[in-house]
Amino acid sequence: MEATNHLPWCDLGDLYPGPNAPSLFADLDEVGRAAKAFRERYSGCLALLATPALLGAVQAYEQIAERAARLASYAALLAATEGMEPAVATAVETIRVRMGATLSALTFFPLELGQLSDGRFEDLLRTPGAAPYAPWLGAVRAVRGHLLTDAAERQLAEESAVQRMEWVGRYDRRMHALRVPTEHGSMSVGAALRLHTAADPTARVSAARALATTLDAMIEDFTLILNALIERKQREDRRRGFDRPDAARNCVNRLGDEVVDAMLDAVRARAPLAHRFYRLKAGWLGRDVLDHWDRSAPLPSVAAMRFEWEEAKAVVLQAFESLSPEIAALAGRFFEEGWIDAAPRDGKVGGSACYATVPCAHPYIVMNYRGTVSDLLALAHELAHGVHQMLAADNGFLAAAVPPVLAETVAALAEIVLLDYLCQRAASGPMRDALLALKLEHLINTVFHHAAIHEFERRVHHVRRDGELTSALVNELWLGSQRAFMGPAVRLDSSYGTYWACVGHVFRAPFYAYSYVFGGALALSLHGRLAEEGQPLAERYVSLLRLGGRAGLPALTALLGTDDRVPSAAALATAALDAVGSLVEALEGKIETLRQPSGR
Ligand SMILES: [Zn+2]
Repeated sequence: MEATNHLPWCDLGDLYPGPNAPSLFADLDEVGRAAKAFRERYSGCLALLATPALLGAVQAYEQIAERAARLASYAALLAATEGMEPAVATAVETIRVRMGATLSALTFFPLELGQLSDGRFEDLLRTPGAAPYAPWLGAVRAVRGHLLTDAAERQLAEESAVQRMEWVGRYDRRMHALRVPTEHGSMSVGAALRLHTAADPTARVSAARALATTLDAMIEDFTLILNALIERKQREDRRRGFDRPDAARNCVNRLGDEVVDAMLDAVRARAPLAHRFYRLKAGWLGRDVLDHWDRSAPLPSVAAMRFEWEEAKAVVLQAFESLSPEIAALAGRFFEEGWIDAAPRDGKVGGSACYATVPCAHPYIVMNYRGTVSDLLALAHELAHGVHQMLAADNGFLAAAVPPVLAETVAALAEIVLLDYLCQRAASGPMRDALLALKLEHLINTVFHHAAIHEFERRVHHVRRDGELTSALVNELWLGSQRAFMGPAVRLDSSYGTYWACVGHVFRAPFYAYSYVFGGALALSLHGRLAEEGQPLAERYVSLLRLGGRAGLPALTALLGTDDRVPSAAALATAALDAVGSLVEALEGKIETLRQPSGR
């Protein structure tokens, strides 16, 4: 049974009435004109402005950037919800090309700001009304050593808009067009991957075999796209003086390279935990070794769980209520005010995402809800992003954007809170054990699977420095990184070698994956502390979310510290994973309770 009745579609009318609306074209013209006028007024003369006028320029820049972001968000949402309609695709492309030109007129601003003397910067930060801009100005200062000349920045902004469309667009179109001929009919790659979580073992194996054949036939094309994207990124990194492939991402996350390395080392050191988990899972499925298509097999009691939309809403809001009534109330608005597009349909993007849009509007959630526990978790994850964005909106456009590592911690906490709520409301006995097993599997996946993807990206980018990657080599690097994470209890044969092509982040957002590693590990720490300290900590947590981009990861670790000591993110992760170790141990004592009738 699929819970697809009465699922909401969202209305993008709060942004624009439609892709051909006169108000949309008027805004495109107006933003273009404003950006040009801004450039003419301020380019080349920031250093000469009195400090209050300089702050006025920052505020004027924010207004134009926010209007441009409203248009860009609308284009992204149109593409996600109905981008396969030719007329819509044309409108999306028009908006993107015109926004590329508009934004290229503004590239001079952060560049010139970054070149101001330290004294001028201090003056600017002390000016009344400047406080909300401090994190954005700090970020401008942090990347100034990596910025190029104005002409080069303009050229890159225009080129990257076109090349992104060309190569990422090519990836998206290929993936969308692929059809996997399974025994259950011809289906999309997303649907075939979903069958890997089916309770029926024959459905899993047949989906995996068909998907491997389909990917294999297209793998040269995906390798070509990957080569082109990495090559382009390496050229840009070289010009900007980034000396390692994840350095630009670390800048966005406002993290030192050493903090990222320490976190991934800490997780790698705990990989035996993932190996133990898969050994345990093989036991539950009555097997010695799992094939890769059995890795995500559900325990039958969990597979049978279904949540109709109204129940999903009630469950998620009740779980959020246990965290904070304010978070639950804001999440409720997404349901009441039609900000969620949940209905699966042709032409809609797969997966789920929360689109922040702009503070003067509201976020939208786009997902494909089918009523499973995974869908429920995705709903909680995206709602947490949406609530965070709502809480942060008062900071204004430039200060509302949150570093991904922090945003993903907030989303991962919502998943843990939901899983905990499901475990608590289940009566004790096999159902509760099965839900604990689900919670454990979800945590292992969030932290270790994404650490393995990060390792794969690191290796692929490194090897690409020496020349073109072949498909065989990329497959081998993928299998190597995945084996190190899953351990000997999962058999990864060559048919799994091409699955890297299904990981969209590798193409669309290089090195984003490690944000989930930070997110999962830190959310676990936070959840443990919330259980100990309750309401006072929950209130400080909500206050932190309200700071938006004014709070980075250090603000979160400070929340978890004591008066005289703030732990490092890696130390928190190690402690949290040790706690996961206790859960593994507890479930190791229950192999017989959870064991299923033999898989095949
Ligand atoms: Zn997320």
